Amino acid sequence: MTAKLLDGKALAGRIEDSLRDEVATFSRMAGRVPRLVVVLVGEMAASASYVKSKASAAARVGIEAEVVRVPATADTEALVELVGALARDEQGPADGILVQLPLPGHVDTQRVLDAVPADRDVDGFHPENAGLLSQGRPRFVPCTAAGVQRMLIDAGVETAGKHAVIIGRSDIVGKPLALLLASRGTGGDATVTICHSRSENLAAICRQADILVAAVGKPGLVTADMVKPGAAVIDVGINRIADAAAKGGSRLVGDVDFAPVAEVAGAISPVPGGVGPLTVAMLLANTLLAAELRLGQGQR
Ligand code: NAD
Repeated sequence: MTAKLLDGKALAGRIEDSLRDEVATFSRMAGRVPRLVVVLVGEMAASASYVKSKASAAARVGIEAEVVRVPATADTEALVELVGALARDEQGPADGILVQLPLPGHVDTQRVLDAVPADRDVDGFHPENAGLLSQGRPRFVPCTAAGVQRMLIDAGVETAGKHAVIIGRSDIVGKPLALLLASRGTGGDATVTICHSRSENLAAICRQADILVAAVGKPGLVTADMVKPGAAVIDVGINRIADAAAKGGSRLVGDVDFAPVAEVAGAISPVPGGVGPLTVAMLLANTLLAAELRLGQGQR
């Protein structure tokens, strides 16, 4: 492998180290620790595992994380009501409220997400936070997008004037990342192209990228012939594929055909151990920010 490995796990560890100090300072001033409430609906194994890693990362930096488990049969009304009750701090101060996605098919996800008040929306999905980001005055930035930008900055990957191609246009990853990379300042000032399922000539567009981000959810989508020599390749995808040799008969891979691409790219993030841990670290940072904003408004 010739590419530099972008070790998200190590970077997340360094971010946690500095957050731990900031959390301690907040807790001294506020007389309580920051608190994150995660709503977990149903029994999906992947969601349960993400929530578990969020809660243990929170504990490592001194943030209290409470997981509210709800049966998969809960309907939209019940979930909207639950989020409302959390927002009224009926179960203790909820600085950050996060609804783990995906929700069961019968639930109106948008209505549930819209019930999370903008100033506690640590996932950054509320229209007010999306609007602030698009106006270049970010408050809560979606965690994965923030993590990718942080990874590029930390690795010293130049973004100013460079062509960043993002594959995927979701509200959670692709769109906010495009806004971040195109915004003014450190980790920004890039020329950004967003590709998606209807894009023609995907390979040719990707080959123009100095920075190529794959956020699709299709293993092996990005092959070595789609990568410009020396480009930074960030793999956001998380896919579980069958592998008889792996423990449990399956393993996680990203959207990038890792080994061949690592021979062409200048830098590459692995899956697992790349963007995933940074997403969690950014969630912790957003939770601290939510607690600080609340304290600043005179609320305990
Ligand atoms: P999504 O399903 O909302 O969006 C996928 C996007 O890919 C869509 O915009 C679609 O147009 C595009 N797409 C689909 N097929 C395509 C193709 N053949 N060519 C080009 N574009 C195509 O997904 P999402 O929520 O944005 O997540 C994307 C991936 O990132 C998933 O694998 C998800 O598990 C992963 N993810 C990882 C993290 C993390 O922390 N690492 C966080 C969020 C999502």
